[in-house]
Amino acid sequence: MFFIGRALIVICTFYISSYIKLIRKYNNNNFNTIKKTPNIGKIEKVVIKDKKIKEFKKKLLNIKYFNYSFFYHNVRTLKIDRHESLSKYKVFIANYDPIKNVINITDEKSFPHELNHMSSSYYDGDDYSGLSQNSFGTGLNEGYTELLTERYFKSGESYPVEFKIASNLEQIVGREKMEQYYYTANLFELIEELKQYDTHENIMKFIGYIDIVTSLIDNYFKSRMFNAILKKSMKKINLYLLKWYTIKQKRLMENKNISLEQCYSNIYKYSKRLYNLKNMESTKYKVLTKKIIDKKIKEYL
Ligand SMILES: [Zn+2]
Repeated sequence: MFFIGRALIVICTFYISSYIKLIRKYNNNNFNTIKKTPNIGKIEKVVIKDKKIKEFKKKLLNIKYFNYSFFYHNVRTLKIDRHESLSKYKVFIANYDPIKNVINITDEKSFPHELNHMSSSYYDGDDYSGLSQNSFGTGLNEGYTELLTERYFKSGESYPVEFKIASNLEQIVGREKMEQYYYTANLFELIEELKQYDTHENIMKFIGYIDIVTSLIDNYFKSRMFNAILKKSMKKINLYLLKWYTIKQKRLMENKNISLEQCYSNIYKYSKRLYNLKNMESTKYKVLTKKIIDKKIKEYL
């Protein structure tokens, strides 16, 4: 009995402290100042010997607006640690450490994903990485890294929910700009771009909610409390996306770039992309109903 009692106390403390940490992280995020990414100028080309990096570099030519600065800056001193012995435990697959400029890897399939992180990261005491900064925006960054890995390197199957969110955001920002912001680690400019649709505070909240989803979605100790936060965060993310997309279409219509019918048809098509999140493996939640979507579209239009 005594043992069970102690175990219960440990579990409760774990949940409560994780919950407090999460809320604290979320609240802090909203006051984060996002810095401009330093301009490191033109970096000299580096001769690449590693076969796999060479293959990766060849495919970079397909990315119209790829910026080679961070790629050359990091590839010069990049270390690759292959931990083959760990692979049988299937726990650790790969990561990129921007501070040490090291790719740790057990599964070679993840190599293009990690090389994308390397090509979009810069560290000078602050960690600028793709669409994240000092780990704020990690969820969005992982989703978009995976999207680019699939688009240009035909591999990857991680972060399915974040992938979908990043893809829906790209529909608003545009592929060209999103890719540019990513490869220049320019979260600052992404936020500036989104300010035509919403306040700084709301944009920060949107990015913060994706971080919350990322920290909860693979939480094996699922609980009602965590699931409720996950569901609420997904709903908020989708409502921001729907709002921004609707405003964008409304402006296109007002400027006579699209007809009224086209405007409605685009918005409803887009709202179905949000709907579909419920069908994804990791989220069994219907986060938005048709009724809410219809009501919100009327409100934003
Ligand atoms: Zn990653």
